[in-house]
Amino acid sequence: MRPITEIIVHCTATRADWWASKPTSAKVAEIRRWHVQDRGWRDIGYHYLIDRDGTVATGRPLAQVGAHTQGHNTGTIGISLFGGHGSSENDAFEEHFTPEQDAALRKLIAGLKSEFGITKVSGHNQYAAKACPGFNVPRWLERKTAARSTVAQSKTVQAGAAGLLATVTTGATALGSLDRTAQIIVATAVVIAGAAFLWVIRDRVKKWAAGVK
Ligand SMILES: [Zn+2]
Repeated sequence: MRPITEIIVHCTATRADWWASKPTSAKVAEIRRWHVQDRGWRDIGYHYLIDRDGTVATGRPLAQVGAHTQGHNTGTIGISLFGGHGSSENDAFEEHFTPEQDAALRKLIAGLKSEFGITKVSGHNQYAAKACPGFNVPRWLERKTAARSTVAQSKTVQAGAAGLLATVTTGATALGSLDRTAQIIVATAVVIAGAAFLWVIRDRVKKWAAGVK
């Protein structure tokens, strides 16, 4: 096996629904046809392709140098995600690709890292003035902590909800021991305090719901 130290991620730049009714093998055959017939290469340029449903297909054999990143084909593995049409280099992964592709790409990278001495995972756009693969690969890789931070966010929101409940309970308790006018004043204060509390935590709730750090 040739020495491999890096994975470079690409996209096929096809529309999200391109050949949606066809199996992954047919899509790979079509990309191979573009590369072999249209570009005159000896085989498909990528080593792996990941379909919209997370199916991982093999392209050019790993033992052979690929044709995916000019000047960076030696020592690298090229992985391409189906989709990415109309993307820009700093778009978010999920704007153009599916959660299944996210999981499959992470798993494939982890597997290849355990097999080869891979020290770097990058995107085509780091080596060429191209959008490909349509997101920032290092930033996407750093997002491994996203799941953990979602849990932390949800705890913050829970704490916020508990605070709101405490405010309401305190208000209700105070209400019972007061006369009519005082009751109205306290009830109004509680509603205002509650609304203010929701206002304060609303950004947290929104971010938590979107799963963003
Ligand atoms: Zn590319």
